Amino acid sequence: MNDIAPTRLKPIVTLDIKFFWDACDKGELKVERCAQCQQFRFPPRPMCPHCHSTKREHVAVSGRGKVYSWIRPVHPKPVGFDEPPIVALVELEEGFRLVTNLYGVEFGKITRDLPVELSFDKTVGGRQVPVFRPRR
Ligand SMILES: [Zn+2]
Repeated sequence: MNDIAPTRLKPIVTLDIKFFWDACDKGELKVERCAQCQQFRFPPRPMCPHCHSTKREHVAVSGRGKVYSWIRPVHPKPVGFDEPPIVALVELEEGFRLVTNLYGVEFGKITRDLPVELSFDKTVGGRQVPVFRPRR
């Protein structure tokens, strides 16, 4: 993070995902879990695909994971970024994957299973989005 005003677009917040973005603003990564069978549901959805329960809970996760795959999209030029960000699929210790950005590592030095940890990047409008960095 730096003192320069962020240019990254703010997240689009819908009712189902408001808890996620509110937690991000507090520096936490919270996801939805089925309150019946305890399976994670990411992204959130109205019904559990495992047991069909509509009961849900929002739980904080470790923020530790490993890189599953990665890419640097160059065309079209991403809006809100000076340089195209590295887009990665990160597998969290809890067993599900999320699409995110990788910071703090050169593209050519990324490897499959690179251990990463949660960080946050500021957006326009004072919000935060979860990103990942190599684990220290
Ligand atoms: Zn379930």
